[in-house]
Amino acid sequence: MNLTAPAHIQNYIGGNLQAPLSGKYMDNINPATGEVYSLTPDSDALDVEAAVAAAKAAFPVWSTTPVEERFKILNRIAQLIDDNMDALALAETNDNGKPLWLSKRVDIPRASSNFRFFATGIMHFSTDSHSMEDKAINYTLRQPIGVVGCISPWNLPLYLFTWKIAPALAAGNCVVAKPSEVTPMTSYMLSIICQEAGLPAGVLNILHGNGPNCGSVIVAHPHIKAISFTGSTRAGKDIAATAAPMFKKISLELGGKNPNIIFADANWSKMMSTTIQSSFSNQGQICLCGSRILVEESIYEQFKAEFIARAQKLTVGDPLEDSSKQGAIVSKLHYDKVLGCIELAKQEGGKMLLGGHAVKGTGRCANGLFIAPTIIEGLGASCRTNMEEIFGPVVTLQSFKTEEEALELANTSDYGLSATIWTQDVSRANRVAAKVHSGIIWVNCWLLRDLRTPFGGFKNSGVGREGGWDALRFFTEPKNVCIEL
Ligand code: NAD
Repeated sequence: MNLTAPAHIQNYIGGNLQAPLSGKYMDNINPATGEVYSLTPDSDALDVEAAVAAAKAAFPVWSTTPVEERFKILNRIAQLIDDNMDALALAETNDNGKPLWLSKRVDIPRASSNFRFFATGIMHFSTDSHSMEDKAINYTLRQPIGVVGCISPWNLPLYLFTWKIAPALAAGNCVVAKPSEVTPMTSYMLSIICQEAGLPAGVLNILHGNGPNCGSVIVAHPHIKAISFTGSTRAGKDIAATAAPMFKKISLELGGKNPNIIFADANWSKMMSTTIQSSFSNQGQICLCGSRILVEESIYEQFKAEFIARAQKLTVGDPLEDSSKQGAIVSKLHYDKVLGCIELAKQEGGKMLLGGHAVKGTGRCANGLFIAPTIIEGLGASCRTNMEEIFGPVVTLQSFKTEEEALELANTSDYGLSATIWTQDVSRANRVAAKVHSGIIWVNCWLLRDLRTPFGGFKNSGVGREGGWDALRFFTEPKNVCIEL
């Protein structure tokens, strides 16, 4: 199996690797160097049609393949991901700009966990039965939906792509999947892994392309019955508008503007080191990052001083170097967006406590896209900087006097993905957790993930939940059978 980056990435349709039918490609750029290092298909409706036809043809056999057989194949995929960790991690870093150590520690291990988790999960999946005493018995069948679409973003490329594909396949569906056009390489490599693992042709089809030409065509295709999407709230809105009148099932995992609420009784050292991570990991490009830091007034100045001092030490630079704690921003488009948000914060009267500017790379990274960790204070809760998702290494600080005020600040957001609460008072932790309008709450920790738990957001952060049984339920249709006794 050859997992080196090719000059031309190929689509995976009906078990074959093939060029886009139009012959059109887009540049694939390494954001740490600025180099165009491969070309990615600019797939369109013709490729989507071919992928749907292949998926439809594969469905009758795959949907009736015994779960034990599906389990074995998905487990083989997991094992091959582990066996090829180095090649996949390097590809992820070259596509995305994230530090190589992070790809090795988080992204690629999680991709194999996703397959292993849902391979095992489907072996234990069961359904309800409802007895009507001696009158009747109802049982619920959960059948695969058919052909489903999975569309994912660039920030955790293989990690989020497999988080959708694995439960869809485990549940017996055939999949037409599209990774982000910004980070296509590891999903191309996954195609090769699926061939090697013996996944039957057409069960998984991977198309490379952008949102308008390819993603929206997948969403609108009449034979694709469900869409699992992770990405921006903007695209989520378009997808909901297309899918709703077609009565498709949709799962939307969208943006966030998450509060990190720090009370004065927090375990200081743990809170400090975790807050550095929850602010700047992956250059702040994680939907779960705590971009609004809310600090109890009595510790605000002390927090501010130590937080700045620690963030100042984060080395920004070549993602291949172990010493780099921050790599490159994923693309020129996104780099310009983040710098634009920083400019807006300045115009709104924000004070730059740290950063607020680009960083010039050195050596092979001289043309790379780097931004300094940025800490801003002095902005009100409802200004654009505190309301809109930036999705970069940028956090704001606000102080609060009371628990009520902390909650008010936390909930002044159109988003509701996650929140972190730092306190050693158990009663307060429970009270605040219950009142924050977010789907995922961490108390005295961050990004501690149990794959069985429901994952998703309130408000503009999305619709539906991923993870555990929620994912397997999403990818199956319940059917009640009532038998009169
Ligand atoms: P994006 O919405 O631009 O793109 C995501 C994917 O959707 C890409 O594959 C893209 O090609 C495709 N796409 C774009 N427009 C589409 C359309 N109209 N129809 C169908 N497909 C379309 O998002 P992005 O910039 O790649 O990712 C960053 C965003 O993702 C941030 O908002 C972040 O918060 C969010 N995100 C959310 C979660 C979560 O779990 N809630 C996780 C990671 C990222």
